[in-house]
Amino acid sequence: MSSIVENLREVTRSIRAASEKVGRTAGSVTLVAVSKTHPVTSILEVLQAGQRVFGENRVQEAMGKFPELKRDFPDLELHLIGPLQTNKVPDAVGFFDVIETLDRPKLARALAKEIQKQGRAPRLYLQINTGAEPQKAGVLPEHAPALLALCRDELGLTIEGLMCVPPAQGDPAPHFDLLKEMARKEGLSVLSMGMSADYPIAIAHGSTHVRVGTAIFGARPVSFTP
Ligand SMILES: *Cc1c(COP(=O)(O)O)cnc(C)c1O
Repeated sequence: MSSIVENLREVTRSIRAASEKVGRTAGSVTLVAVSKTHPVTSILEVLQAGQRVFGENRVQEAMGKFPELKRDFPDLELHLIGPLQTNKVPDAVGFFDVIETLDRPKLARALAKEIQKQGRAPRLYLQINTGAEPQKAGVLPEHAPALLALCRDELGLTIEGLMCVPPAQGDPAPHFDLLKEMARKEGLSVLSMGMSADYPIAIAHGSTHVRVGTAIFGARPVSFTP
Protein backbone atom coordinates (compact mmCIF):
# COMPACT_ATOMS: atom_id res chain seq x y z
CA MET A 1 0.00 0.00 0.00
CA SER A 2 1.34 3.47 -0.84
CA SER A 3 2.12 5.85 1.99
CA ILE A 4 -0.64 8.21 0.88
CA VAL A 5 -3.23 5.44 1.08
CA GLU A 6 -1.85 4.35 4.45
CA ASN A 7 -2.16 7.96 5.63
CA LEU A 8 -5.74 8.10 4.38
CA ARG A 9 -6.59 4.95 6.33
CA GLU A 10 -4.97 6.38 9.45
CA VAL A 11 -6.90 9.66 9.17
CA THR A 12 -10.13 7.75 8.60
CA ARG A 13 -9.40 5.67 11.71
CA SER A 14 -8.70 8.79 13.76
CA ILE A 15 -11.93 10.40 12.60
CA ARG A 16 -13.85 7.32 13.68
CA ALA A 17 -12.08 7.20 17.05
CA ALA A 18 -12.62 10.93 17.72
CA SER A 19 -16.30 10.61 16.76
CA GLU A 20 -16.96 7.57 18.93
CA LYS A 21 -15.24 9.18 21.89
CA VAL A 22 -17.90 11.90 21.99
CA GLY A 23 -20.79 9.58 21.14
CA ARG A 24 -21.06 10.56 17.48
CA THR A 25 -21.19 8.13 14.58
CA ALA A 26 -18.24 8.14 12.18
CA GLY A 27 -20.68 8.98 9.37
CA SER A 28 -21.50 12.31 11.00
CA VAL A 29 -18.08 13.66 9.95
CA THR A 30 -17.12 14.14 6.29
CA LEU A 31 -13.45 14.05 5.37
CA VAL A 32 -12.50 16.71 2.83
CA ALA A 33 -9.11 15.62 1.45
CA VAL A 34 -7.18 18.84 0.72
CA SER A 35 -5.14 18.18 -2.41
CA LYS A 36 -3.80 21.69 -3.14
CA THR A 37 -0.28 21.62 -4.64
CA HIS A 38 -0.41 17.82 -5.00
CA PRO A 39 -0.44 16.13 -8.41
CA VAL A 40 -3.23 14.24 -10.15
CA THR A 41 -1.39 10.94 -9.59
CA SER A 42 -1.65 11.39 -5.81
CA ILE A 43 -5.30 12.41 -6.00
CA LEU A 44 -6.02 9.35 -8.12
CA GLU A 45 -4.52 7.04 -5.49
CA VAL A 46 -6.82 8.52 -2.87
CA LEU A 47 -9.83 8.26 -5.18
CA GLN A 48 -9.06 4.63 -5.93
CA ALA A 49 -8.91 3.99 -2.18
CA GLY A 50 -12.52 5.21 -1.94
CA GLN A 51 -12.21 8.86 -0.91
CA ARG A 52 -14.64 11.08 -2.84
CA VAL A 53 -14.60 14.57 -1.28
CA PHE A 54 -11.69 16.90 -2.09
CA GLY A 55 -10.73 20.48 -1.27
CA GLU A 56 -8.69 22.88 -3.38
CA ASN A 57 -7.62 26.45 -2.63
CA ARG A 58 -7.36 27.88 -6.10
CA VAL A 59 -9.92 27.84 -8.88
CA GLN A 60 -7.34 27.66 -11.68
CA GLU A 61 -5.32 24.88 -10.09
CA ALA A 62 -8.45 22.79 -9.51
CA MET A 63 -9.63 23.35 -13.08
CA GLY A 64 -6.26 22.12 -14.30
CA LYS A 65 -6.26 18.94 -12.23
CA PHE A 66 -9.83 17.73 -11.88
CA PRO A 67 -11.69 17.60 -15.22
CA GLU A 68 -10.69 14.03 -16.07
CA LEU A 69 -10.99 12.87 -12.47
CA LYS A 70 -14.53 14.27 -12.33
CA ARG A 71 -15.37 12.46 -15.55
CA ASP A 72 -13.95 9.13 -14.32
CA PHE A 73 -15.48 9.45 -10.82
CA PRO A 74 -18.88 11.12 -11.30
CA ASP A 75 -19.59 11.10 -7.54
CA LEU A 76 -16.44 13.10 -6.79
CA GLU A 77 -17.31 16.21 -4.75
CA LEU A 78 -15.06 19.24 -4.98
CA HIS A 79 -14.91 22.01 -2.34
CA LEU A 80 -13.34 25.44 -2.84
CA ILE A 81 -11.65 26.27 0.47
CA GLY A 82 -9.46 29.21 -0.59
CA PRO A 83 -10.33 32.90 -1.11
CA LEU A 84 -12.51 33.61 -4.13
CA GLN A 85 -12.04 36.74 -6.25
CA THR A 86 -15.17 38.00 -7.96
CA ASN A 87 -13.58 37.69 -11.42
CA LYS A 88 -13.25 33.92 -10.80
CA VAL A 89 -16.88 33.50 -9.79
CA PRO A 90 -18.09 32.20 -13.21
CA ASP A 91 -15.43 29.46 -13.20
CA ALA A 92 -16.02 28.61 -9.54
CA VAL A 93 -19.80 28.33 -9.95
CA GLY A 94 -19.33 26.13 -12.99
CA PHE A 95 -16.73 23.83 -11.46
CA PHE A 96 -17.16 23.40 -7.69
CA ASP A 97 -19.82 21.48 -5.77
CA VAL A 98 -19.29 23.46 -2.58
CA ILE A 99 -17.86 26.94 -2.04
CA GLU A 100 -16.77 27.24 1.60
CA THR A 101 -15.36 30.76 1.46
CA LEU A 102 -18.24 33.18 0.97
CA ASP A 103 -17.21 36.10 3.17
CA ARG A 104 -18.45 39.44 1.81
CA PRO A 105 -21.51 41.11 0.28
CA LYS A 106 -19.88 41.80 -3.08
CA LEU A 107 -19.01 38.12 -3.47
CA ALA A 108 -22.51 37.08 -2.39
CA ARG A 109 -24.03 39.32 -5.07
CA ALA A 110 -21.66 38.01 -7.73
CA LEU A 111 -22.44 34.40 -6.77
CA ALA A 112 -26.19 34.99 -6.82
CA LYS A 113 -26.00 36.56 -10.27
CA GLU A 114 -23.82 33.80 -11.69
CA ILE A 115 -25.89 30.98 -10.15
CA GLN A 116 -28.95 32.50 -11.80
CA LYS A 117 -27.13 32.79 -15.11
CA GLN A 118 -25.69 29.25 -15.17
CA GLY A 119 -28.62 27.50 -13.52
CA ARG A 120 -26.04 25.64 -11.43
CA ALA A 121 -25.85 26.18 -7.69
CA PRO A 122 -22.86 25.06 -5.63
CA ARG A 123 -23.66 24.60 -1.94
CA LEU A 124 -22.37 27.55 0.09
CA TYR A 125 -20.74 28.02 3.50
CA LEU A 126 -19.79 31.32 5.08
CA GLN A 127 -16.16 31.62 6.14
CA ILE A 128 -15.88 33.27 9.56
CA ASN A 129 -12.69 35.01 10.71
CA THR A 130 -13.15 33.79 14.29
CA GLY A 131 -9.79 35.17 15.41
CA ALA A 132 -10.42 38.58 13.76
CA GLU A 133 -6.99 38.31 12.14
CA PRO A 134 -6.43 41.22 9.74
CA GLN A 135 -4.51 39.14 7.17
CA LYS A 136 -7.07 36.34 7.08
CA ALA A 137 -10.12 35.89 4.86
CA GLY A 138 -13.56 35.47 6.38
CA VAL A 139 -16.29 37.73 7.65
CA LEU A 140 -15.90 39.00 11.22
CA PRO A 141 -18.24 37.20 13.63
CA GLU A 142 -20.17 40.41 14.39
CA HIS A 143 -20.84 40.99 10.68
CA ALA A 144 -21.90 37.44 9.91
CA PRO A 145 -25.63 37.79 10.76
CA ALA A 146 -26.02 40.70 8.32
CA LEU A 147 -24.20 38.80 5.56
CA LEU A 148 -26.39 35.76 6.18
CA ALA A 149 -29.52 37.90 6.04
CA LEU A 150 -28.39 39.44 2.75
CA CYS A 151 -27.77 35.98 1.28
CA ARG A 152 -31.02 34.48 2.49
CA ASP A 153 -33.52 37.31 2.32
CA GLU A 154 -32.32 39.50 -0.51
CA LEU A 155 -30.33 37.21 -2.80
CA GLY A 156 -32.19 33.95 -2.30
CA LEU A 157 -28.99 32.02 -1.59
CA THR A 158 -29.13 28.97 0.66
CA ILE A 159 -26.26 28.91 3.13
CA GLU A 160 -25.61 25.42 4.47
CA GLY A 161 -23.01 26.08 7.10
CA LEU A 162 -20.00 27.89 8.48
CA MET A 163 -16.27 27.40 8.00
CA CYS A 164 -13.28 28.71 9.97
CA VAL A 165 -9.49 28.54 10.10
CA PRO A 166 -8.43 29.37 13.68
CA PRO A 167 -5.21 31.34 14.29
CA ALA A 168 -2.11 29.22 13.70
CA GLN A 169 -0.94 29.74 17.28
CA GLY A 170 -2.91 28.98 20.40
CA ASP A 171 -5.82 26.77 21.38
CA PRO A 172 -8.29 26.26 18.50
CA ALA A 173 -11.08 25.00 20.79
CA PRO A 174 -12.62 28.42 21.62
CA HIS A 175 -12.79 29.14 17.88
CA PHE A 176 -14.55 25.85 17.21
CA ASP A 177 -17.01 26.61 20.03
CA LEU A 178 -17.69 30.09 18.68
CA LEU A 179 -18.40 28.71 15.20
CA LYS A 180 -20.70 26.05 16.63
CA GLU A 181 -22.63 28.61 18.68
CA MET A 182 -23.01 30.91 15.66
CA ALA A 183 -24.31 28.01 13.55
CA ARG A 184 -26.75 26.97 16.28
CA LYS A 185 -28.19 30.49 16.54
CA GLU A 186 -28.65 30.67 12.78
CA GLY A 187 -30.03 27.13 12.43
CA LEU A 188 -27.16 25.94 10.22
CA SER A 189 -26.18 22.27 10.28
CA VAL A 190 -22.74 22.21 8.64
CA LEU A 191 -19.55 23.09 10.53
CA SER A 192 -16.37 22.95 8.43
CA MET A 193 -13.57 23.08 10.98
CA GLY A 194 -10.45 21.09 11.77
CA MET A 195 -7.24 20.56 9.74
CA SER A 196 -4.33 18.11 10.01
CA ALA A 197 -3.11 19.52 13.32
CA ASP A 198 -6.45 19.71 15.13
CA TYR A 199 -9.22 17.68 13.46
CA PRO A 200 -9.79 15.33 16.44
CA ILE A 201 -10.33 18.40 18.65
CA ALA A 202 -12.66 19.91 16.04
CA ILE A 203 -14.71 16.71 15.98
CA ALA A 204 -15.00 16.79 19.78
CA HIS A 205 -16.37 20.34 19.36
CA GLY A 206 -18.99 19.43 16.77
CA SER A 207 -17.27 19.57 13.39
CA THR A 208 -19.18 17.97 10.51
CA HIS A 209 -16.46 18.53 7.87
CA VAL A 210 -12.73 18.24 8.52
CA ARG A 211 -10.33 19.59 5.87
CA VAL A 212 -7.19 17.47 5.99
CA GLY A 213 -4.25 17.92 3.61
CA THR A 214 -0.79 17.31 5.06
CA ALA A 215 -1.78 14.28 7.15
CA ILE A 216 -2.88 12.52 3.93
CA PHE A 217 -0.72 13.85 1.10
CA GLY A 218 2.39 14.86 3.06
CA ALA A 219 4.05 18.27 3.29
CA ARG A 220 3.42 20.96 0.68
CA PRO A 221 6.27 22.92 -0.94
CA VAL A 222 7.31 25.71 1.44
CA SER A 223 6.82 28.25 -1.33
CA PHE A 224 3.05 27.70 -1.24
CA THR A 225 0.98 30.57 0.09
CA PRO A 226 -2.79 30.37 -0.09
C1 LIG B 1 -4.51 24.02 3.28
C2 LIG B 1 -5.80 24.13 3.99
C3 LIG B 1 -6.28 23.06 4.78
C4 LIG B 1 -5.49 21.79 5.02
O1 LIG B 1 -4.41 22.06 5.88
P1 LIG B 1 -3.49 20.87 6.46
O2 LIG B 1 -2.85 21.48 7.63
O3 LIG B 1 -2.52 20.53 5.37
O4 LIG B 1 -4.37 19.74 6.80
C5 LIG B 1 -7.52 23.20 5.36
N1 LIG B 1 -8.26 24.32 5.19
C6 LIG B 1 -7.83 25.36 4.46
C7 LIG B 1 -8.69 26.56 4.33
C8 LIG B 1 -6.59 25.30 3.85
O5 LIG B 1 -6.15 26.37 3.15
